[in-house]
Amino acid sequence: MMPLPIPPLRLAAPPLSGRADAATTLSAVARLVASGTAVSKAELGPAAGLARTTVSGAVDELLARGVLRLNGTRPTPGRGRPADRLELSPDSGVVLLADVGAHGAHLAVVDLSQRVLGHTHVLVDVRDGPETVLDLIETAFDALLPDGAVRAVVIGLPGPVDGQLGQPVRPPIMPGWHAYPVVERLRRRHGCPVVLENDVNLRALGEARALPPDQSPLLFVKVGTGIGGGLITQDGALHHGADGAAGDIGHIRVRGAPDVVCVCGNVGCIEAVASAHAIARRRGVDVTDLRALIAHGDTEALALVREAAGLVGEVVATLVHFANPARVTIGGSVTAASDELLAGVRSVVYQRALPLATRNLVLTGSTLGEYAGLAGAAVLGIEQVLSPAVVPTLNPTPRRAHTVKSCRACPRRIGPPGTSRLAQVPPTGS
Ligand SMILES: [Zn+2]
Ligand SMILES: [Zn+2]
Repeated sequence: MMPLPIPPLRLAAPPLSGRADAATTLSAVARLVASGTAVSKAELGPAAGLARTTVSGAVDELLARGVLRLNGTRPTPGRGRPADRLELSPDSGVVLLADVGAHGAHLAVVDLSQRVLGHTHVLVDVRDGPETVLDLIETAFDALLPDGAVRAVVIGLPGPVDGQLGQPVRPPIMPGWHAYPVVERLRRRHGCPVVLENDVNLRALGEARALPPDQSPLLFVKVGTGIGGGLITQDGALHHGADGAAGDIGHIRVRGAPDVVCVCGNVGCIEAVASAHAIARRRGVDVTDLRALIAHGDTEALALVREAAGLVGEVVATLVHFANPARVTIGGSVTAASDELLAGVRSVVYQRALPLATRNLVLTGSTLGEYAGLAGAAVLGIEQVLSPAVVPTLNPTPRRAHTVKSCRACPRRIGPPGTSRLAQVPPTGS
């Protein structure tokens, strides 16, 4: 099959104190192995800051629970006997990922060592409502599902979500989804933890964890059908805010913008004047035709994109002053279609923001493109399974062969292949 072009993703390990309880210790040891930071008992002690006997007990339990397995030995120069090499067991189960956009969803199944076992793309329109869309996604998951226990499900939706309640909250472009029990429905079906997240937050997390730690704080701004943002903190975590609304920047009002009424009912929101929808409306075409016009260098369309870039730049300059990110990533379909947007945003930000906030600022396009959301979902799902709440409940699953399902859509969807076996890199630390 065509592998997804997702590079190795960094996992965070929970910080440990001397008084860490058994569950936290299990979680830390599992994540250190999963991230490749420490792969033997001898390395785990110093990496986790734990006594050898504590590490030894945790490793034995993780082996018994089928989370870890031994894979050969690792030479220990000058210390005699080679050390047993630990790795995530391929039988430790799988995580289901769904990145749902306004008009389509990317789905994938990964194991805990980030191996993509299968993926597919589903044409869905979120305006059809939750029953129709989730029916389609569940059917696609069933077709994709390898023979492994499902340990977690992560789903991203293009609107505001309440992660605690597991429900969308008055999503402007998703009629019928308000307060729909998305998490409850998937939890009942799969009998495992389910994480609901905003789609732009997933992209932000995916980008940040595919980059070195010094590229965070990272601000991700999506300029597509809608406009949204996601903020990753210095230690690589999603910043949700008190109610999960952090980063929902589409309804910030911009100075000098046309008086267009937004889907939210207000006037002059950035989304209402600078999104792909807004640009397409002003050009008198639909969003698909707009992309074609931009790609063919239509002067009128490009002038509208430049105008939108100026407005987005105003908003980004304000956010840069507030959050002082190391990196701003501008993603979404308008950015993908033309360099004009990124160039326009860049010039406004460097012109308007103060030198201290932009001295080391990297302002660039997305490195993962349309698969950034799946990458972020993989991070959340794997960290969820290896969390203190879940790791102690895992049990060995019968050894069965994983069938890697093929994706017929891929050859025309994505270009050159990346790596299918996603290797490991050290975590962010804390
Ligand atoms: Zn609005
Ligand atoms: Zn594909």
